[in-house]
Amino acid sequence: MAKFKPFHEFQKPLIGFTPESFLDYVETVIPQDHLCRLVKEVVFSLDTVPIEAMYSFLGQRTYHPKLLLSVLFYGYAIGVRSSRKLAERCLSDHIFIYLMQCYTPDHRTISDFRKNNLKEIEKYFVDIVRIFSKLGYTSVGKIYLDGTKIKGNASAKRTKDRAGFEKWLSEIEEEIATVLKEAETIDKQEDDTCKVDPEQEALQKKLSDRTYLKKKIEEALEVMKEEGKEKINLTDRDANHMKSGGSKDIRPGYNCQAAVTESGIIVAGEAVTEANDRNQLKPMIEKTELNTQEKVKEVGADSGYGSYANYEYLEERGIEGYIPDDHFRQYKSGEYQKEENRYHYTNFTYDSASDSYVCPEGKRLVYWKTRTNKTDSRQWNHKVYRGRECVACQKRSLCTKAKVRELLIDIREPLLQKMREKLISDEGRRKYFMRQYIIEPVFGHLKFNVGYRNFLLRGLEKVCAEFKLMCIGWNLKKMLKLKIRPATV
Ligand code: SF4
Repeated sequence: MAKFKPFHEFQKPLIGFTPESFLDYVETVIPQDHLCRLVKEVVFSLDTVPIEAMYSFLGQRTYHPKLLLSVLFYGYAIGVRSSRKLAERCLSDHIFIYLMQCYTPDHRTISDFRKNNLKEIEKYFVDIVRIFSKLGYTSVGKIYLDGTKIKGNASAKRTKDRAGFEKWLSEIEEEIATVLKEAETIDKQEDDTCKVDPEQEALQKKLSDRTYLKKKIEEALEVMKEEGKEKINLTDRDANHMKSGGSKDIRPGYNCQAAVTESGIIVAGEAVTEANDRNQLKPMIEKTELNTQEKVKEVGADSGYGSYANYEYLEERGIEGYIPDDHFRQYKSGEYQKEENRYHYTNFTYDSASDSYVCPEGKRLVYWKTRTNKTDSRQWNHKVYRGRECVACQKRSLCTKAKVRELLIDIREPLLQKMREKLISDEGRRKYFMRQYIIEPVFGHLKFNVGYRNFLLRGLEKVCAEFKLMCIGWNLKKMLKLKIRPATV
């Protein structure tokens, strides 16, 4: 009895070995429930006619978009996304060879395909979400929202303010002047000796590099002036300065937002330049409804999304929200009930009959006026209540530094109170608790399992498409886990 499996190369010469026969062989090796089979099925169910229409009948035949899409989707699902690595895998990895059907595109072909089809990639994300929708998996009765910062493909050193760029520009101009002087001296020496100096070529390269950099700095200064930006990154002008990946360092990056259903499917994913999540609730709900063509009924998110404006939006839309505010933790822990916080505004009782507040000393604060302000960055609508008996109050020094205590109460304060009470209830606690088990694993997987801690592409449009590819990768894995096949739709 033989001890080892026989060497195939000795058994059968590879004469007549064709891509077809190799694919037949690979087909037998890949397990039936392998992710690559699902990727292929999904991609072949997508409408690639708009991409196909972009290619001409003239010239050499190119790779079919379905093959390149399969390679991109599968690559992003397993954490291989650099065009060079993908091209290398199409030569060395039988799963990629199977997806690419034995063709071997070079890295430029893959990267150009990704770059030239950003809009289509975003559309395919929606098409895949709708495959889930047709089977009832993306019932957006409930969604959970969260955001994570992912580093841009740019160095923090290249982010500067106007003064920084102007200083850099003057240094570059000095360097250019020095290089030109050196080149002139070498030119003279060459004329005298009739010999070509090898240094001249290096100087020319240095000159062209510095001239290019100078042009980029001038453009950045122009953009700062036009768009009124205080800081900008020279490499990726859209990347905003923000803390990313739990690090204390502030780096150029993007805020990636995702809306996930109870089944863990990403139904909306966007990369934005605004570091704060507060303004993302409304656009993410609207994106979810657009992608799934269903109304959102319930939403859970962390305190980053808690704001009067968001509570008002949820109330107007009739959406049940489970979103704490920034001070909910203190409220829940009874921090405001402590003696040192006796005069915190939450300990003043509202009397709706007289539209006034009663302070902890039993004195009344009556409505005085309403202050409103609405700018692009901030808006408030406060009712101001003033104490009537504060001047003679013994506790005034503990309550206020002014002569009279004033309470500034946002007119949407009842919405905040309603949200707090809801979150404290058993049902609210349970629903909010689920958030960490549904949305947080998504970013945990993308950042720590597949290693997406930075983007490869630059500029908001490209970064958005790259984030969609990451979301497609997650959704395809989810599809495999849920045993969904596009053929069953
Ligand atoms: S200062 Fe005015 S509001 Fe404060 S405890 Fe005294 S009476 Fe009440």
